[in-house]
Amino acid sequence: MRIAVVGTGYVGLVSGTCLAETGVTVTCVDVNNAKIELLNNGGMPIYEPGLAELVTRNREDGRLFFTTSLKEALKDADAVFIAVGTPPDEDGSADLHYVLDVAREVGELINDYIVVVTKSTVPVGTNYKVKGVIQAALGKRGVEVAFDVASNPEFLKEGDAVNDFISPDRVVIGVESDRARRVMERLYHAFILNNTPIYFMDILSAEMTKYAANSMLATRISFMNDIANLCEIVGADVEAVKKGIGSDSRIGKKFLNAGCGYGGSCFPKDVKALIRTGDDHGHSLELLKAVERVNEKQKSVLFRKITSHFGTDLTGKRFAMWGLSFKPGTDDLREAPSLVLIDKLVEAGAVVRGFDPVAMEECKRRIGDRIEYADNMYDALTDADALIVVTEWAEFKIPKFTFIEKALKHKIIFDGRNIYSPEQMKEFGYMYYGIGRKDN
Ligand code: NAD
Repeated sequence: MRIAVVGTGYVGLVSGTCLAETGVTVTCVDVNNAKIELLNNGGMPIYEPGLAELVTRNREDGRLFFTTSLKEALKDADAVFIAVGTPPDEDGSADLHYVLDVAREVGELINDYIVVVTKSTVPVGTNYKVKGVIQAALGKRGVEVAFDVASNPEFLKEGDAVNDFISPDRVVIGVESDRARRVMERLYHAFILNNTPIYFMDILSAEMTKYAANSMLATRISFMNDIANLCEIVGADVEAVKKGIGSDSRIGKKFLNAGCGYGGSCFPKDVKALIRTGDDHGHSLELLKAVERVNEKQKSVLFRKITSHFGTDLTGKRFAMWGLSFKPGTDDLREAPSLVLIDKLVEAGAVVRGFDPVAMEECKRRIGDRIEYADNMYDALTDADALIVVTEWAEFKIPKFTFIEKALKHKIIFDGRNIYSPEQMKEFGYMYYGIGRKDN
């Protein structure tokens, strides 16, 4: 089998590489020349555990190629995957112009039957728009070429994307013809052999499944953050509550962590887009609107704790910030709570010295010298008035507290991810602020 994957971001590069690993010949296409050059020279444009090794192996084995030419990639391809970005428009709806641009180009280039698979997260009905755009482009050429569209939303998590793609909980595929279904079955043959559940369904349901899944996960986070804030007021401990409810098999243990808000390239934009879809159809998604409001408020929770300790004027104060990426395992800073906090701290007059195991370069690219960059986690602490933990990277979980104590001006920790125990912090003589913890 041979496929083209258009867009070599987190989803395109991981999907293309992992499908190559199963024996498919994959050509990845991107309009970003620098990205393609880097990949062709053995470099990696993103950080994702295990991905670099897989890219190298599959390139060397002659199953994975990178090009800026869609025409070249489409040659003899059984399917073309669209994996370009769908960023939020000003009104919250998904901006589909990258997806539809690719669809138009596909229509301008195809000469043989192909399945056009949308992997990008797109609102309900988009696959039919893709189909219309391709038909229009074929019409303009005055040719008739058979093709099918398919929806194959991606559920991988940044930071564990390779594992998620290779061993998914399920694969969801929306099709409207047996021919397309057979192509998709051949493509996912290795997954079928592994007994991965592959759910074939209609296209609209496949598109909706992706938004419903992300919205459900975002809802759990906002729910726990709301409960955490109430825990603080009434004197309960959200970590105890988490264990108490997570052991109920109807609820489950995952996605119950209170923190300083969700970020990343998916939850915020997908929740917004689904709200917009609801509004467009005269159905106001009240629950999701609240999920979004709670999250916006939660991104300021650490700042509120910091100013209630130090006062609203932070001139002359220095803060060490551990963790910049929106979650561990990735260098992605899109919609990261760290960026909101940095803005607020700097506007209040503070100096921030940040450290992140992998997101330093990406942070420099985004916000330049708005903060100082430390050489390592302990260097970030030098002369700081307090330590703020924003991302729960593994290396922050059991730090050398004696080092922290020596470097900080005051023994104060603001822990936005509840990675330390309030009892232990008390024992070590720290003033400790967690999220929804007893004795905050
Ligand atoms: P990304 O921004 O990392 O990558 C998109 C890539 O597409 C970029 O490299 C860009 O240069 C390229 N591109 C844009 N227009 C192009 C064109 N006409 N031809 C070729 N390349 C083009 O995006 P991403 O994070 O990989 O997300 C892609 C889609 O997958 C989005 O819809 C997103 O919502 C969805 N998704 C993302 C994740 C995730 O964790 N990042 C998970 C599941 C689904």
